[in-house]
Amino acid sequence: MNLTCSAKELEKQIINWRRELHQCPELGLDTPVTAAYLSQRLTEMGIEHRMKVGVSGIVGIIRGNGGNPCADKVGRQKTIGLRSDMDGLAIIEETGLAFAATNGNMHACGHDAHMAMLLGAAKILQDHRERFKGSVKLIFQPAEEGPGGARLMISEGALENPDVDAILGLHIGIISKEVDTGQVGIHYGNMMASLDDFKIRVIGKGCHGAMPDTGVDPIVMSAQVVNALQTIVSREVRPTHSAVVSIGVIRGGRAFNIIPDEVEMIGTVRAIRSDVREMIAARIKEIVAGITGAMGGSYEYHYTMGYPPLVNDARFTREFKKTAERIAGAENVVEMSEPSMGGEDMAHYLEKVPGTYFLLGSNNPAKNIIHPHHSSKFDVDEDVLYLGSALLAQGAFDWLKKEASVNMTE
Ligand SMILES: [Zn+2]
Ligand SMILES: [Zn+2]
Repeated sequence: MNLTCSAKELEKQIINWRRELHQCPELGLDTPVTAAYLSQRLTEMGIEHRMKVGVSGIVGIIRGNGGNPCADKVGRQKTIGLRSDMDGLAIIEETGLAFAATNGNMHACGHDAHMAMLLGAAKILQDHRERFKGSVKLIFQPAEEGPGGARLMISEGALENPDVDAILGLHIGIISKEVDTGQVGIHYGNMMASLDDFKIRVIGKGCHGAMPDTGVDPIVMSAQVVNALQTIVSREVRPTHSAVVSIGVIRGGRAFNIIPDEVEMIGTVRAIRSDVREMIAARIKEIVAGITGAMGGSYEYHYTMGYPPLVNDARFTREFKKTAERIAGAENVVEMSEPSMGGEDMAHYLEKVPGTYFLLGSNNPAKNIIHPHHSSKFDVDEDVLYLGSALLAQGAFDWLKKEASVNMTE
């Protein structure tokens, strides 16, 4: 069964949902208006759902009742999760759209479109629940842009009761230049980087700028530290294992003739592989300790693990590729040649269960939809939204169908 027609029939409705959600962008974990809107739509569709999972998150469930239940050896039904993020950004919108937000925040990353597409998929699957076995869990998650809603929702049971066996999610927009309007970008294995931050205090001993021999200069130590940290990626990480160490803040000193007591640095680490990520976190500490120790100073170091690398399951992705080819046409399914150094907390679900995260291209120069994510002029080509709903619904449908037949032959 191909669900594209069902999605096309819903197209106007999906666009309308997107426009209404676009007008109430909220930030972080605190997205009550968005959650209330989604809850109303799910209730209208007759979909059972739980609110306030991860502060403002929602977990809905669609139980297929086609034929014999799809059960594994212990008799449990299979469940696939479909995930959308919910949060906007603290950006004043400058798109000039008739439905632009006016509350000082903006859906400048396309999460409004994600929610609308997932509502569309939910409606299609609910209407076709006689045709599949097993369950589909809908996960609407706040705080993707920070501080992170995925980990919180998982800790509050989003992947349990019933247990989720696989997960599917997408990002719309222009994350990869290889994925044009209406095209689907897929990637096997490590697709997006980890997203961590760190703070370093380089501690010396302040003194008069004319008498450096009476103190320990943290500015000179910091200069050595900044340079040495850049050799982690260039000399210690295998060149094909992409990683980044960037210092975004360096602060210290108040006057031209005073050597300060300390300098503070704040930075970020991105890595496509978990082992590289852990190596970098440890090596920053060793380098800072070595340099400050050798120069008579000391240090404090604090590393915060944020989102892990996003890793797509090869088997699931291979199957999803077939689904995507049926929905979008084989010529519109692109295997992306390189991963993104951006981070995404979908990675937390993919650490727990196999699945895939894919891209749906929605830039369209012919309509002047060309602005990058997090720009005050970011927009999406609404003509691709029904495709997103079809991809999610069909992805869930095909997976459940395949898992059911595997189990029935066991
Ligand atoms: Zn974003
Ligand atoms: Zn985003």
